[in-house]
Amino acid sequence: TITVGVLALQGGVVEHLNLLRKAAGHIASPAFTFAFVEVRTAPQLAQCNALIIPGGESTTMAIVARRLGLLDPLREFVKIQHKPVWGTCAGLVMLAEQASATKQGGQELIGGLDVRVLRNRYGSQVQSFVAELELPFLDANASNAKGEAAAGERTFRGVFIRAPVVEEIIAPGDGSEKGNGDGAGKGGGRSVEVLGVYRKAEEGKPGEGEGEGDIVAVRQGNVLGTSFHPELTDDVRIHVWWLRQVVEAARHGDLVVGGA
Ligand code: GLN
Repeated sequence: TITVGVLALQGGVVEHLNLLRKAAGHIASPAFTFAFVEVRTAPQLAQCNALIIPGGESTTMAIVARRLGLLDPLREFVKIQHKPVWGTCAGLVMLAEQASATKQGGQELIGGLDVRVLRNRYGSQVQSFVAELELPFLDANASNAKGEAAAGERTFRGVFIRAPVVEEIIAPGDGSEKGNGDGAGKGGGRSVEVLGVYRKAEEGKPGEGEGEGDIVAVRQGNVLGTSFHPELTDDVRIHVWWLRQVVEAARHGDLVVGGA
C-alpha cells in the first residue's frame, strides 16, 4: 500500500481526495494499492509516503499546524525524509522558503522550495479567474501508444483564487528567518525547475502572452508547487502525473511502502 495524505487542517481537502481517487484509477497496478488519508496529527503524517498540502489560507494553516505540533514533523517529512509533497496555492506558500511581507506580517512556513512567493498576486477573492495554461510536462501523460502527444493536450485550465506566484528563485541556504530550523530548503541538492508560466493575454490578442509571465508551477527534487487549483476542476492529469512519480519513488526504494 502506498499511503498518500492530504493535510486536513483547513482548506480544499475533500476536493483533492476525490481527484486522487479518480487519478488512481488511471494507474491501477496489481503491484500495489493506494490509500488516501486525511492528516491532522504527527502519527498520521508518519504513515504517509507522500503528501498534498491543499489550498486555503496559509497563515491560518501555519497557526493550526504550530498548535498541533505538526510544523516540525512536516519540515522533517519534506526536507529530511525527502518524501514527495505537492502544495497547491496556500500549499505552495507553505512550501516556499520565503513569502513576501504582507500586511499580516511574517508567517511560519514549512519550506523545501528555494523560492520566494508573493501572496495574493492577483488581488482578492473577487478577482479570481480561470486561464488556459501551457504545461509542457503534461505531454508525458498525453502521449498515446505511439508516444505522440496530441496538440492541445498540454494546456490545462488553471483556477486562480487569491493565488500566489513565485516571485524569485533564491539561493539555497537563503531561507526564511522565520524559524525553519535548518534555515534552508537545500532541496536535496536539486535546483528549482520552472514547470509552468502564466502570461496574461493581451487585449484583443487572445492567447498571446504579455511579457515574461508569472511562474505558477515549480518543482525542486521531491517538492512540487502550483499556484492554481487542479482539484477544483475534473481534470485528473496533474494528479495522475504526480501519483506516477510517487509510485516511481516507491519503486526506487526511496519510500518505505508498508503492508501487502
Ligand atoms: N491567498 C491564500 C494564502 O496566501 C491562498 C489562497 C488559496 O489557497 N486559494 O494563503
